[in-house]
Amino acid sequence: MTHAIAIDGLSGAGKSTVSRLLAQYLGIHYLDTGAMYRSLAYAAKEARINLTQEDQIKDWLPASGLEIVLDNQGQKTFIHGVDVSNLIRTPEMSRLSSEISALPPVRHYCVAKQRELANQKPLVLDGRDIGSFVLPDADFKFYLEATAEERAKRRWLQMQIDADPNTKTQSLEQVLQEIRSRDINDSNRKLAPAVAAEDAIVIDTTKLNLDQVVDRILYLMQEKANTNEITKSFWHEYLEKAQVFDYDKGKEEI
Ligand code: C5P
Repeated sequence: MTHAIAIDGLSGAGKSTVSRLLAQYLGIHYLDTGAMYRSLAYAAKEARINLTQEDQIKDWLPASGLEIVLDNQGQKTFIHGVDVSNLIRTPEMSRLSSEISALPPVRHYCVAKQRELANQKPLVLDGRDIGSFVLPDADFKFYLEATAEERAKRRWLQMQIDADPNTKTQSLEQVLQEIRSRDINDSNRKLAPAVAAEDAIVIDTTKLNLDQVVDRILYLMQEKANTNEITKSFWHEYLEKAQVFDYDKGKEEI
């Protein structure tokens, strides 16, 4: 039986920071599914795998060396025992991961790993297709939206404070172009495109800061738990732990 919170949305919608905070408040782990696609992109590049040869990729995947570790320090992603968690955060890996993630064998491989992890413990998962494809029975589903301009601005500002000097060379206009091109790839691929599940709650974050988004999610979780006994019986103790949030604050924002 899985107990999961799905946080989906397009690139730069704030999913990862929101998901990390949410998981911290609830006292559960956070799985960044984009890191899997990024790591496979990194590994494929290192192994000189031709991304146009699907059969070759299918055979290579089990030997790619991908390993995800979730512990109290957060998530670490390894390729053949090497921690690649930082190496995958480059514009090149953003581009390549969007490309590789459209390949059906890659998606099946990652989705199987995501389901396996979600079966082991309660998780917050962020991605593009968690609520619509990976875990259609997730207890809570949220889809974060913001305009492409706002998402690019957030990404660009983040790059200015990141340690990696390579990312600082990108202009705001370049970041916007990349976001638009990844939006097109992620929304139009045949298998499991980025889409809000029918029963997901869509949150427009354009005018909200991170705390406001997390407050709203916690409020909506509490609201669902109040009306659904099954949800309440499992999530009650976790929502109690997240008492740091001001219940009424989330309500006012809606
Ligand atoms: O979220 P992040 O930007 O790290 O994801 C990198 C890429 O991985 C995305 O552009 C998207 O193409 C892909 N991805 C996906 N499905 C997910 C998570 C990420 O296709 N669940």
